[in-house]
Amino acid sequence: MREKKPRNGLLIDYEFCTGCKACVVACAQEYGWPAGQGGMRVTEILQELPKGRGYLSFLPFPTESCVLCAGRTRKGLKTACEQHCLAAVIRHGPVQELAREMERKPRMVLWAPR
Ligand code: SF4
Ligand code: SF4
Repeated sequence: MREKKPRNGLLIDYEFCTGCKACVVACAQEYGWPAGQGGMRVTEILQELPKGRGYLSFLPFPTESCVLCAGRTRKGLKTACEQHCLAAVIRHGPVQELAREMERKPRMVLWAPR
């Protein structure tokens, strides 16, 4: 029986995301997506805290258009978003491996396509 191929995904350490959107631009350039239709979105989340304080987080999140850069990764390249993220907070790989990483470091999200 043929072994099932491991499912790949993206691990995003949003704690250190700067909200620069280089990942959004990289995906759009790689696939020629018009503005707003690419494989990556970055959402701003402003959490209001007591005493008029606030906490701003950025959450980069792959959309339904993300194809996990299959053409690039087949050639041994990084995904376009991983390659261009200056904060190095995006990682592509087998979901099981990435999940183990989450045990080590909190405040990350793990995403896998359909
Ligand atoms: S993995 Fe590739 S297709 Fe998916 S968001 Fe990143 S650059 Fe776009
Ligand atoms: S390129 Fe990296 S640091 Fe910039 S918004 Fe995307 S995930 Fe965040």
